[in-house]
Parts: sequence; structure tokens; C-alpha cells
Amino acid sequence: MSMSAPPRVVIECVRGDIAVQPDVDAVVCAANPHLTTGAGVAGAIHRAAGPGLYREAAPLAPVRTGDAVITGAHGLPNRHVIHTVGPVYGRDEPAAGLLASCCRRCLELADQARLESVAFPAISTGVYGYPVAEAARVSLATVLELAPGLHHVRRVRFVLWSEEDRKVFSRALEERGTGVGHEAARRDPESG
Ligand code: ADP
Repeated sequence: MSMSAPPRVVIECVRGDIAVQPDVDAVVCAANPHLTTGAGVAGAIHRAAGPGLYREAAPLAPVRTGDAVITGAHGLPNRHVIHTVGPVYGRDEPAAGLLASCCRRCLELADQARLESVAFPAISTGVYGYPVAEAARVSLATVLELAPGLHHVRRVRFVLWSEEDRKVFSRALEERGTGVGHEAARRDPESG
């Protein structure tokens, strides 16, 4: 049974600072197309990483909404930063499709880099105005959908800045039938 048991991806929802996640291989930066520092997540990541992060990232810009690029992590305690550009809510359409694309591209890049773990912030829910509950549903659904196809990524952590947002994400995960910190099994294709 253990030989044929499918690999699992663990999804976690925790309260915290995306710039202080030393036990994951990569952190996702909620970036703008120019990959410059800013408020919120990008500010925290660039402050902690130091100016080398922007120097490495700048030639990769501009990044299209829904796309992502990967760099080193510089002063951060991780191996990589994955920079993704979320949709500005109410402007970039379709919002859900673009947010899902962010999550998909980040997971693809992490998997291609053979990373085992990646931490996401709540992309687009700050300055970009995406309602948290909707963003949680879209982001978690995308990770659960892609999990069976990942070869290296085994742990996906959502790092939420407020306890309120952590609860929203945890509830959304529970609604999908997988408790917080529990494993999101490979979905049986028959069960849809
Ligand atoms: P966006 O421009 O994509 O909306 P923001 O960085 O403005 O990105 O915000 C995204 C989410 O991250 C918001 O919910 C915000 O509260 C949260 N956030 C802000 N700072 C941090 C941090 N240091 N670690 C994790 N989450 C953060």
C-alpha cells in the first residue's frame, strides 16, 4: 500500500509574516508588474531581502498580470522568491481567472525548481482590493486542483497577516473537505 500510495500535498493556513518563513523553500511576493518594492507583502519581502532582490528581479520585468517569475531570495531565509502579479480587483478581468493563474504559475515555477515547500500571501487582497473570502476560495481551489500533478512541491502554506484572514482561509479550506494542516490527497479523477 505504501509503495503505491499517491504523494500528498499538505496545505497550511497560518497567521504570520511572509518575510519570516524560514522553513519553506520559496516565498511568493504579491508584486506589481515592475517588481519594485511597495507596501504590504512586497515591502516586507524587499526590506528583508535587501537591494540585491530588486537588482536580480528588475531585468525580468514587466511581468503580466497572472504571471510569475522566480529569483534568488538574497537576505531572506529561503532559497527563492517567486514574484507574481495579482489582478487589481474591479479592473483586471476575469479576476478569478487571473488570480488562479497567479497560483498556478507560482506552483509551476516552484515545481520546476524542484522545491518541496512554498508559502503564499493572500495575493491581491491588500492594495489590489480583492475580497478575502473570494480570494481564499479561488487560491485554495487552484492549489487543490494542481496538487495531484506536482512532482516536488509537498507543502503549500498560506501566510495571512491578520487572524481574521487566517480564519477565512482556514474555513475555506475546511469547506473543501480538508482540515487545516491536513493533507490534500490526490483527487480521484472519477470523483470529479
Ligand atoms: P496586493 O497588492 O496583491 O493586494 P498587498 O501586499 O497589498 O498585495 O496585500 C496582500 C495581502 O497581504 C493583504 O491581505 C495584506 O494584509 C497582507 N500582508 C501585508 N503584509 C504582509 C506580510 N508581511 N506578510 C504576509 N501578509 C502580509
